[in-house]
Amino acid sequence: MKTEKKTNLNKIVQGNIDVDSATIAAGEMLKALGVDLSDPSLKLTPARMANSYAEMITPVEFEMTTFPNDNFYDELVLVKDIPFHSICEHHLLPFIGSAHVGYIPDDKIVGISKLARIVEKFSRGLQVQERLTAQIADFIQSELNPKGVGVVLVAEHTCMSLRGVKSIGAVTVTSSLKGLIRESDRSRAEFFSLTK
Ligand code: ZN
Repeated sequence: MKTEKKTNLNKIVQGNIDVDSATIAAGEMLKALGVDLSDPSLKLTPARMANSYAEMITPVEFEMTTFPNDNFYDELVLVKDIPFHSICEHHLLPFIGSAHVGYIPDDKIVGISKLARIVEKFSRGLQVQERLTAQIADFIQSELNPKGVGVVLVAEHTCMSLRGVKSIGAVTVTSSLKGLIRESDRSRAEFFSLTK
């Protein structure tokens, strides 16, 4: 039974995450917070907790397939409302929201589902929303070298809504713009009118 469980954990967790040590540490933290781990329903909570965090901070890699822009499409390509969740590196609490990711192709295009994969890749980790936004835009810039990139993230931070200031429903909006979407008034206005 025990070995089976470990195998499942290992399927989820890659890289240098040590789930066993994290489980022990999670148990210690819960005990220090006054949680009685002898309660049968809490027995596996440290392992579940360690496993949940391990899963949420392990990046999901993917193949960034690009294609030649044979039809010379040179207008905005935009995928809106991509749901994402990430973990705030200051409180280890989730922030949850949606991403709008667009680019104006030059000589390469990408399968549009990859834009959602890029969001997922960088959101799996300890993050701040500002860095996450910039990393998504930088990655598209370096992989596609497009004429423009625009990324907008809108998210509710549970570290702000469930604790501290307790602003339930407040959302944080960040953007990263490059090339024409940053510099051309027309492209910028089009991007923001479509991501509203
Ligand atoms: Zn936070």
